[in-house]
Amino acid sequence: MAYAITRTCCNDASCVSVCPVNCIHPTPDEPEFGTTDMLYIDPVACIDCGACADACPVDAVFPVDRLRGPDTAFGDLNRDWYRDHPSDHAWGAPGFPRSLPDGLGVLRVAIVGTGPAAGYTAQELLRSTGAEITMIDRLPVTGGLLRHGVAPDHQSTKRIADSFASVFHDPRLRMHLNVDIGADVTHEELAAHHHAVVYAVGAAADRRLGIPGEDLPGSLPATAFVGWYNAEPTVPADAVDLSGPGAERVVVVGNGNVAVDIARILLTDPDRLAATDIADHALAALRRSRVREVVLLARRGPAQAAWTTAEFLALRQLPGVDVVVEDHPEVRAAIETAAPDSRAALLAGLPLVPFDGGAEPAPGRRIVLRFLSAPTALTGDGQVTGLTVARTTLVGGRAGDRAGDQGGDRAGDPTGDRAEPTGQTDVLRAGLVVRSIGHRGVPVPGLPFDERTATVAHHGGRVVDPGTGRPLPGTYVVGWAKRGPSGGIGANRACARETVDALLDDATARALVAPTASRKDFDRLVRHRRPDAVGLKELRAVERAERTRGEAEGRPRVKLATVPELLAAARGRR
Ligand code: NAP
Repeated sequence: MAYAITRTCCNDASCVSVCPVNCIHPTPDEPEFGTTDMLYIDPVACIDCGACADACPVDAVFPVDRLRGPDTAFGDLNRDWYRDHPSDHAWGAPGFPRSLPDGLGVLRVAIVGTGPAAGYTAQELLRSTGAEITMIDRLPVTGGLLRHGVAPDHQSTKRIADSFASVFHDPRLRMHLNVDIGADVTHEELAAHHHAVVYAVGAAADRRLGIPGEDLPGSLPATAFVGWYNAEPTVPADAVDLSGPGAERVVVVGNGNVAVDIARILLTDPDRLAATDIADHALAALRRSRVREVVLLARRGPAQAAWTTAEFLALRQLPGVDVVVEDHPEVRAAIETAAPDSRAALLAGLPLVPFDGGAEPAPGRRIVLRFLSAPTALTGDGQVTGLTVARTTLVGGRAGDRAGDQGGDRAGDPTGDRAEPTGQTDVLRAGLVVRSIGHRGVPVPGLPFDERTATVAHHGGRVVDPGTGRPLPGTYVVGWAKRGPSGGIGANRACARETVDALLDDATARALVAPTASRKDFDRLVRHRRPDAVGLKELRAVERAERTRGEAEGRPRVKLATVPELLAAARGRR
């Protein structure tokens, strides 16, 4: 019986490299890899060896005959992918691990950030070279979006952190947490102590809607909402109110996987979340929550949805929650004429219902998918009470004139169609509006920044001066700070490989400047600037404290949610 890849696929392609018959596609060398939601096993070519299941860092691979409940759909999904993508299962030319020429000495690399892009970069460097690595993070705990972005009910995705834990504990790696590059230590100081610096700082800000009322209390960016339920220590415990006036309806603006995560967390039975590492304060608020309807607001149509198939299927199967689509002729037509594998086809069979956003939500818990609806203002006197929405219609593809940002340029968007207002508006009553319209990168002090893409200016991972196109010696970027905020955790593996290749090419070409001070000098500098910096030993203490609290409650961990609590645990005081 063949194996199949299921919902939690992280796309990091660990399975591809161990498959003896090359039956997992798209591979990182194939064009579809850049846009695919997940990887697929060809059931005809699979020899049932199970090597992919062993290699998968998120336990996403199972024999088809062991798939149960909602996961059974993935047997068909894997098989059907090969109907449209006949694949050549022959192996290409073999690749060999990178190595550095003799005589270069020990390469010292600093990585700023400890999220997935940083983890894959460190892993790649440690595996392929004898490099010594310094990892730095502004928070007193590692993980980036793995800890503070991945939803708590996606514990299997968080298992990638286990493979990074062995990287972080490598004797060639040092950790300096609670240290802010730019504020505590400058880029120049970091560069002076290392041959190379790799920035893996992600995209920390949110895109803005740019409409009146956006900053009213009760209007939150997705980063704040997600940080709140994930115990991100810069987000206060009381950042979200789910029991105030109008709390029965929440509007989530945006139609990507983050919006889906937020809708799911808002309506999942808190008893199920209680078995996860959700922040204690969020769990308590969800137990008190009056929310019973979440409206997912998309400015374009079903075919342009940004969520992935696997995440949407999971939303449809949320126990005790109805998923309905607001009835509208253009939406109905899009679903009825959808191509079999398209996003719109996933809506087939969902109830199409009239929706009055000015009325009280219907009884029961439900998610309303409202398409062709762009927010134009948030309303309320000192607190959000509603959202004015303009009805839109789709216009023509990539060739059409662009008038401002109206969609149509998202990576992976199959249509390129844009949303144009029809002139019709209405108001949705809601006590909470979450703006989940994508992250945005923020400039890194001392590095060139491309305002258009909100990424660090680079060529293939080498940071460049945008004026001259010349690389800044020894300076690299990886992850969302390099590619922009799209792609799941595993997409960072290929991205890290590209950046590490560029770095090693430069080392081989002797284009890197040798550090002018030692590792110990850097440790001293950090201790002087940040006496409360957290190292590996202290990080272990945090880990122990959280896991011990978790064991007592039958949970993977109970997260410490503030910087003082994390620092106290790091010093063994909890
Ligand atoms: P995203 O996938 O880029 O989706 C952003 C959504 O916001 C789109 O629906 C977009 O619509 C909409 N939007 C943008 N500007 C808007 C505006 N001005 N007004 C109204 N709507 C607007 O972003 P994301 O959800 O933050 O996800 C980021 C990445 O993380 C994605 O690659 C996602 O797949 C990944 N992720 C994965 C998982 C998972 O695998 N479980 C979980 C979370 C995140 P248009 O298409 O019209 O622009």
